[in-house]
Amino acid sequence: MTLLSSHSFITTFVSALLLGQSLAFPAWNTTVILPQPQPTVVIKTICNDGKLAAANPRAAFFRKLVHESDYSNYTKVPSPQGTNMKVGIVGAGAAGLYAAMLLDSLNIDYDIHEASDRIGGRIFTYRFDQAAWDQSTPKDPAYYDYYDVGAMRFPPMPYMDRVIGDEPWALIPYINARVSERDKVVKKHYIFKTNNTFRLFNGITCPLQDPNSASPSRYNVPIFNTTFDSMSASQVWAAQVQTLTAALSADFDSGFNLLMQYDSMSVREFLLRQGFANSEIDWLETMNDATGHYDMYSMSQAVLEQWIFDSADINNWSLINGGMDMLTKGMNLVVKNKPVLNNRVNAIKRGSGCNLKVVVNGTQEYEYAHVISTVPLGALQVIDTKELGLSYYQNTAIRTLNYDPSTKIGFKFKTRWWENLPTGPFKGGQSFTDMPIRRCVYPSYGLDVEGAPGTMIASYVWGQDASRLGSYLNPHNPTTQWPEQPESADTLVELTLRDLAQLNGVTYEFVKEQFVGWHAYDWYGSAYSNGAFAIFGPGEFSSVMPWLMTPAAEGHMHFAGEALSSGHAWIIGAVNSAWRTVYEILCTEGMEDKKKQFIEQWGVIDEVDMGWYDWSPEGWPTYK
Ligand SMILES: Cc1cc2nc3c(=O)[nH]c(=O)nc-3n(C[C@H](O)[C@H](O)[C@H](O)COP(=O)(O)OP(=O)(O)OC[C@H]3O[C@@H](n4cnc5c(N)ncnc54)[C@H](O)[C@@H]3O)c2cc1C
Repeated sequence: MTLLSSHSFITTFVSALLLGQSLAFPAWNTTVILPQPQPTVVIKTICNDGKLAAANPRAAFFRKLVHESDYSNYTKVPSPQGTNMKVGIVGAGAAGLYAAMLLDSLNIDYDIHEASDRIGGRIFTYRFDQAAWDQSTPKDPAYYDYYDVGAMRFPPMPYMDRVIGDEPWALIPYINARVSERDKVVKKHYIFKTNNTFRLFNGITCPLQDPNSASPSRYNVPIFNTTFDSMSASQVWAAQVQTLTAALSADFDSGFNLLMQYDSMSVREFLLRQGFANSEIDWLETMNDATGHYDMYSMSQAVLEQWIFDSADINNWSLINGGMDMLTKGMNLVVKNKPVLNNRVNAIKRGSGCNLKVVVNGTQEYEYAHVISTVPLGALQVIDTKELGLSYYQNTAIRTLNYDPSTKIGFKFKTRWWENLPTGPFKGGQSFTDMPIRRCVYPSYGLDVEGAPGTMIASYVWGQDASRLGSYLNPHNPTTQWPEQPESADTLVELTLRDLAQLNGVTYEFVKEQFVGWHAYDWYGSAYSNGAFAIFGPGEFSSVMPWLMTPAAEGHMHFAGEALSSGHAWIIGAVNSAWRTVYEILCTEGMEDKKKQFIEQWGVIDEVDMGWYDWSPEGWPTYK
């Protein structure tokens, strides 16, 4: 599953199980002999060994955090015997659909309520000509006439295996074993970085491969700290947190304790204490991240990301051919009960006995033994949950956990002109700038298909950069924004064309002549997502997030979605959170046989301390 073989996961699980809840983090390297034919297993957990933790940093970090937090275990009241148990799933994104797949495998009935008119949530592929795409095959140019508005790429990390791995329980092989050739989910290489793309800062352009392309002096930026002449911005940052990342790798427990001393600090505060001037910090942020991120990122989030990126091979990222939504389409094809679209959940109330009542579109009521919410926390905040008796800390977590803004602008041109520039050819990769568009992403798909359309992400922005560009997309309705600004979207397209031309060293007239069409999406402007993805601010990891890691309403209300996982901001986070909530249901109901079946088929997610859930020896599959 992650860095450990599935066998090692079994080991972790067995150890948690055999040693019981009080020994949530069993000593590692202990040998336990199980009945034949189960081989001898070695107990290892990711949390008490620096090397294992370094190979699966998010999981180790998250697990430790939750373990150290002062949340309490949850109360469980099983449904009355003989109840025909049904689950209500709120949201048909990756988490909702994955929860449905898991429930299908357990033969547990469910409904999926989806507020919008499409499935997929933050997995969303926009096709410039959907009808032509529908008729196309991967050999046709029309198959590549798209851009991914939400998720678009996967880093090569074992942690992602539940989605992109090759094991039969991983999402992609699971879908592919059940759908037609046309609907198969195919991974291809995503080109993260390539020569001949550009950096353009302070009005000066430099090819990415130039050894000084990340130095302020190359761009006449007046920073006189000589460190910046010999090291790129990313190297300066990596060096500043090296003590912390090295401490985590060497001995995770003490490294974690050290990092927690910085948990309530923003990146800027940390760098100021390290002796950097604000102008130097601004430069680092400009080159490495998004505008405003160094003020809102917690050090724990930033160090964790650095630790992860230190280990991911930049040359081995992947994408889904034909669009990331092949993944959610595939999930939708394999689930038994299809999501009901245009079903906005307005309230989750108490029902009869332990049941919960879900109110949809203000009028329809459905009763369920369990409800799994997979909606982003901003969307959950406006669902009436007063009757559920959530604690002050749970409501505070729902209100405050930080979601980052993100906006993408997809452009279609007559040709892939950037692949034949006089400055040097390239395919895929990204160019970077301090102009409003901040970065463009050239398609890594359709590279081997003659005449593939000239689609690209003309701008991909986060943080304040995203809020600013996003504002041009929304104020079109005279009843919601006065005075009406109908020219806004045109302004955005115009600005993007100009920035794109300058960044790529071509004329505005040239890109204008090539321009065919556009599509843009502001994720904070969407009331279905209320933000792009969770990025935690100072203190939020340790003090806020753990409160939503246990169910409410006596074990019948479950909180999923990418934010509530160690993999937040990635599809893996959504999927892991769904696994956790389905397992919570089985635990509340004391369904020992189904627990066995579940673990046998789907393995375990190695990110939560299974001790929470009262592992019992009966819960472990026997090998007869
Ligand atoms: C711009 C962007 C880029 C990204 N890039 C990557 C990437 O490259 N790789 C990667 O792995 N991940 C990436 N991600 C993250 C990934 O897309 C998400 O983590 C994941 O898709 C979230 O799934 P989810 O099911 O938790 O939430 P969602 O996909 O948001 O699903 C929640 C669903 O709930 C619905 N809903 C909301 N309110 C209600 C209501 N009241 N009633 C009923 N339904 C409701 C929504 O319409 C939505 O369909 C990216 C995300 C964004 C936005």
